Parts: sequence; structure tokens; C-alpha cells
Amino acid sequence: MSKQKVIKFNCNVCNEPVEFISYGSINARQNPELKQKLIDDTLYKITCPKCGAKLKTIYPLLYHDPDKKFMVYGVPPDDLYKIINTFNVMKDKYPNAYEGYTLRVASNPTDFREKVIILNANLDDRVIEIYKALDVNSINALDENAKATRGYFFVDGDKNMIEFDATYYIKKELSADNYDYIKSFFATDIEGALNNYIVDVDWAKEIISIE
Ligand SMILES: [Zn+2]
Repeated sequence: MSKQKVIKFNCNVCNEPVEFISYGSINARQNPELKQKLIDDTLYKITCPKCGAKLKTIYPLLYHDPDKKFMVYGVPPDDLYKIINTFNVMKDKYPNAYEGYTLRVASNPTDFREKVIILNANLDDRVIEIYKALDVNSINALDENAKATRGYFFVDGDKNMIEFDATYYIKKELSADNYDYIKSFFATDIEGALNNYIVDVDWAKEIISIE
């Protein structure tokens, strides 16, 4: 069972003391209910028992899917390099155990959750990050008022989708053809990031600005 810890804090609306259960790690095989909560975006959320305010907490959390062979560590930005070091030590110590694994670190809950959703959908997050960055550019090229800044991958039923931060709501279905094209066009960059723990918006922006 996942290690649980009770986090206590005060409601930021009414100051009522609130208790919240946090988990050190989630194993997708052993904790399918926690996996679902993470995907549903309810894992970090709690409602204040007194005033009903919706509160969100952030705490370090390791997500491990042994079947799909990936681990994503969600950590506060200050702990980012500590966790990267932990991953390095772990890989040096047990090289065979992490053979074929995708290891990622994310420094905010939104990126963390999105990483898990992308990898859970059996997609390559490096391709998805480049895909989103290119789409942001093409949205802005078509309409300068859109002011799109970034995309977020999500799954809707059996469809892979991307929604965008922009001045109005933009949602697109992921095109498998474009995905494959990007995968082969940027193959060198993608291969070069094989051991990157951080694959995010900034990484993708740099790649597409060079090409
Ligand atoms: Zn409250």
C-alpha cells in the first residue's frame, strides 16, 4: 500500500484547520484508485469542511507504472535537482531494473498530471511536447488575437486531445499522422533527450526554434 501521511494546514479562506491525506508514491498496478484520482484531478484537492472552499495542496509524489515502465516524480521546484540526483543514484545502483524506463520530473501539479496522462496513453511525451509547441505557433500564425501560449494533452473517451491556453477556448484532436511525422522529422532531437528527466514546454520551444 502507498505510504500515507496526514498534512495539516489552515484553510486560506476561513482559517479552519484542515487535514489532508498525502501519498508518497502511487504504483499504478497496486493503487488503481489513486491513479484514477490523479487522472481525474482530485488527488490534490480537498473541500474545506467549514466554508466549502476548494483547496489544493502540493506535495512530492512519485508515480510509478511498472507495466508501462515509467516513473514521474512531481516535486516542488526547490526539490527538482535533489530528485534528479536521486534518479541518477538509483539508475547507477540498479541499471537493469530501469532498463527501458522513461523517468521524468515535473515541478508543478499540472505538468505532473499531464505527464502521467501522456505516458499512460502509450505516447512519447517528447513527441507530444514538440507537437503542442508547433500547434501553438500555427494557431498564432493563423490568428494573432489567439495569443496561444501552451497546450495540454488530455484523453476524452477514446480520443487523444489537446487544449490550449489562449484568449478563447481551443481544443483539437491529436492527429496520428502529424504525430508520426513529428516523430520522424525530429528523430535526432527526440533521441538526444532519451535520458532527459525534464521534458517540458521550454525544452520543446528550444527544439523547434533551432530547426
Ligand atoms: Zn474554509
